Amino acid sequence: MSLLPPQIQQTIEEFSKLPGIGPKSAERLTFHLLRSSKASPEGLGRSLVQLKTELKYCSDCEMVTLQDKCPICTDSSRDRSTILVVEDPLDVIAFERASYKGVYHVLHGVLSPIDGMGPQQLKLAELLQRCRAGGVDEVIVATNPDIEGEATATYIRQQLEGIVFKVTRLAHGLPMGADIEFADQVTLKESLAGRRSL
Ligand SMILES: [Zn+2]
Repeated sequence: MSLLPPQIQQTIEEFSKLPGIGPKSAERLTFHLLRSSKASPEGLGRSLVQLKTELKYCSDCEMVTLQDKCPICTDSSRDRSTILVVEDPLDVIAFERASYKGVYHVLHGVLSPIDGMGPQQLKLAELLQRCRAGGVDEVIVATNPDIEGEATATYIRQQLEGIVFKVTRLAHGLPMGADIEFADQVTLKESLAGRRSL
C-alpha cells in the first residue's frame, strides 16, 4: 500500500500522461506545486479546465479560437485562394509575424507512425474537403524540415493530386531539423518567397 495520499498519486498519474513527462518528472512537478509559494494549483487547474471547455478549433482552418471561425478566416482582406499548411497553432503565429497574407490550415501534428500519428489523427480530411470545395489556387506545405515533416508534405501532395494544381513547399532557407515555431521572420519570409513545387 502506498504511503502517499491518493490526491498526490492522482496528480502524479495525470502529469505522467503528458508527453515527455516520465514518472520522476511527474513526482517532481507534483511536489513542486504542493510546496511552492509561487506556483498556483488553483490557477493551473482553472487554465486547464478553460483550455478544454472554452477553446474551439476554427471550422475553416482548425486554428484554436473562441468563436466558430478564427479572426484570420473572418478577415475579408486575406487571400483565401492560398492555403499555408502548418503543424501547430504556434506556427500560424510565426507566419503572421512574417506578413503572410493568405489563410492557413493547421494539421495538429505530423505523420509519425512511431507516435501513433497516422492520417486519421491529423486534420487532413478537413484540408481535402476545403480544397475540394474549390477556390484554392495554391497549397503551401510548411511542415517542419525534418523526417516527419517531409513525409507529411509528400503525403499531402499525393492526396491533393488532381484537386489542387499548385502544391508548393517552403524553400530550404530553413535548415533540416529546424522548428518553424522558433524561426526568425526574415528566414520565414525568404523560405515563403522561394517556395518550390512539391
Ligand atoms: Zn480559421
